[in-house]
Amino acid sequence: MKCLKCHSTQLEVTNSRKKDFQVWRRRKCKHCGFTFTTNEYVDAQKLLQLQESSRKKQLSPYNRGTLLGELYIALSHKAEASPLTLLETVEQTLLRRSATNNFTVTHSQLHETVTEVLERYDTLAALNYAARARATAN
Ligand SMILES: [Zn+2]
Repeated sequence: MKCLKCHSTQLEVTNSRKKDFQVWRRRKCKHCGFTFTTNEYVDAQKLLQLQESSRKKQLSPYNRGTLLGELYIALSHKAEASPLTLLETVEQTLLRRSATNNFTVTHSQLHETVTEVLERYDTLAALNYAARARATAN
């Protein structure tokens, strides 16, 4: 890692926080004093796999772009919403819940998790999402 301002490699970590599959670090350049924040997290896109259902074993890759699009649509009535932040919460929850199952989640587990995260944030967004998920499943 280099300083964003002067490109020195003399950086120190002044603060850090760990949360499940994520590490947040405050870094300070010893050369010019510039400070910035980095986030290190597990790439859910590469790790998570989707299973059609608990009976159908066929796997498909998890697509974070698709889910982000769904979150944007579900939150479209709320201008101040941050779909990307909610996506990170959903992914952290999915990683935690699927760790004992080789990071494999069924479509219904994915939908339940997204709905849960949205419900804590905004009831209408959760209803929007659940209605669309049900419509596309049928
Ligand atoms: Zn610097």
